Amino acid sequence: MATPLPLFSQLPASKPPQQQFTQFTATAPPPPSPLFSSPKPAVKTHRTRIQSKFGSFLDLKPESVPEPIIFPDLPWHDPTPSPRSSQFDVIIIGAGPSGLRLAEQVSLRGVRVCSVDPSPLASWPNNYGSWVDEFEPMGLSDCLDHTWPMATVHIDDTRTKYLDRAYCRVNRTKLKTKLLTNCASNGVVFKSAKVWEIHHREFDSTVACDDGTELKASLIVDATGFGTPFIEYDNVYKTKPRNEGFQIAHGILAEVEGGHPFDLDKMLLMDWRDSHMGNEPYLRSGNSEFPTFLYAMPFEPDLVFLEETSLVSRPTLPYKDVKLRMAARLRHMGIKVKRVIEEEKCLIPMGGPLPRIPQSVMAFGGNSGAVHPSTGYLVARTMALAPTMANVIAECLGSTRMIRGRPLYDRVWKGLWTPERKSEREFYRFGMETLLKLDLDGTRRFFDAFFDLDPYYWHGFLSSRLSLGELLMLSLTLFGNASNPSRLDIVTKCPVPLVKMVGNLAVETI
Ligand SMILES: Cc1cc2nc3c(=O)[nH]c(=O)nc-3n(C[C@H](O)[C@H](O)[C@H](O)COP(=O)(O)OP(=O)(O)OC[C@H]3O[C@@H](n4cnc5c(N)ncnc54)[C@H](O)[C@@H]3O)c2cc1C
Repeated sequence: MATPLPLFSQLPASKPPQQQFTQFTATAPPPPSPLFSSPKPAVKTHRTRIQSKFGSFLDLKPESVPEPIIFPDLPWHDPTPSPRSSQFDVIIIGAGPSGLRLAEQVSLRGVRVCSVDPSPLASWPNNYGSWVDEFEPMGLSDCLDHTWPMATVHIDDTRTKYLDRAYCRVNRTKLKTKLLTNCASNGVVFKSAKVWEIHHREFDSTVACDDGTELKASLIVDATGFGTPFIEYDNVYKTKPRNEGFQIAHGILAEVEGGHPFDLDKMLLMDWRDSHMGNEPYLRSGNSEFPTFLYAMPFEPDLVFLEETSLVSRPTLPYKDVKLRMAARLRHMGIKVKRVIEEEKCLIPMGGPLPRIPQSVMAFGGNSGAVHPSTGYLVARTMALAPTMANVIAECLGSTRMIRGRPLYDRVWKGLWTPERKSEREFYRFGMETLLKLDLDGTRRFFDAFFDLDPYYWHGFLSSRLSLGELLMLSLTLFGNASNPSRLDIVTKCPVPLVKMVGNLAVETI
């Protein structure tokens, strides 16, 4: 579940860069008002309202236009051909959260890094939510723009759980600016280009960029997100379906008329209620079989991020269904969207095959298999894994040791996918397979029991920090505490995934 909390949602950066918003209605723009620490985005007013097609927020167009990060002194790649300008220790392709964090950490250890991205200063498009206790220990609390001391889960109309765990929205602009600043002071060089091809020799590789530039390095890291062309996945899956699940969600940052019903001191992690289906019976059967829930981050009485989410589906739930369910839900809750400030389509592949280990290009981030297979969370994990990966890279390419070619690839890949991490991932994949088999009632029973677990276990599960032994203990406790129908679900629906997991764990230990 993108966690079960999938949630990836977003909102306006608490300090929205000076965004320019295209106008939508013929009304005058509202006066700026404080938003977290930032003014509410202003709106120009030269459009006319279109006749409603859906009679809901789906008729509204997102108004915000992302502004680039302001960073006048970023060290750009020098195009003058010379060994110094074209030869690096490490080239990291992609300046998303994963690529930039790894560039920051590797360069901090004295390794020469070049970061290549078509737009290194573009603002990141996604809104990232996370648990505060994941970001704080990494010294990244200054990159959060809104926190909620508690989270709420509505299991159904009669059962609600209040989770005593603080949640946050990451400030994309602050996090990116911080990583760029650290990269710049550590000597990272930035190249604005798209990488087209990678060629390997015994001890180094060359990347060919779309502007004709060629750059060399001992190690190439692909941090291009989910759609990578440069990474090969486990051979086993070439002849079989990839069997990944997908989290799909539609999110909006909305200004609402007359306020919203959410407490400002709690974020809504999951709302599994379906009373809105009473008015829209044609949506009910689909939702009963493949349920979606509402995720919400309330910022101000009239400003909220709302996201209807399918935690995991295979094949992917149609995006249109997600949007129609969201419209029905908001209508039922009396939430009237006045303006859509931002819109987010979320599609996250989860739990597919791991990359083939080792291979000549290292993967990091969305393409590396590190996405939580049963929640879809990645950002905090990638921030936490980067120092570990940087240590391995610096051991090989730092000043004292020069390990290159196959031994280098072997070490970096095995540094990311240790036997323990692979086994733990098998377990999280089992969680995903279980969720895929549950209908709405089963899903409710599951989360009812899950959030009753000792917080150590459910916190650890959602944050990928339980050992295999702890994960086994979690399952036993979950089974022991579950209701009888829930146990029946597990016994009748999960034997196949369970056998697969045990088989894969056995292969892993041989
Ligand atoms: C809408 C959405 C919301 C999400 N919300 C959350 C959340 O709330 N919490 C959470 O933990 N996770 C969330 N995720 C999951 C995950 O954290 C994000 O997908 C995250 O952006 C992955 O980071 P990344 O750096 O690996 O890849 P990306 O952020 O996708 O960055 C990849 C970068 O590589 C560049 N690139 C691509 N191809 C090339 C090329 N050929 N050459 C050079 N550069 C290239 C791209 O331009 C981009 O800058 C969300 C995902 C989505 C899609």
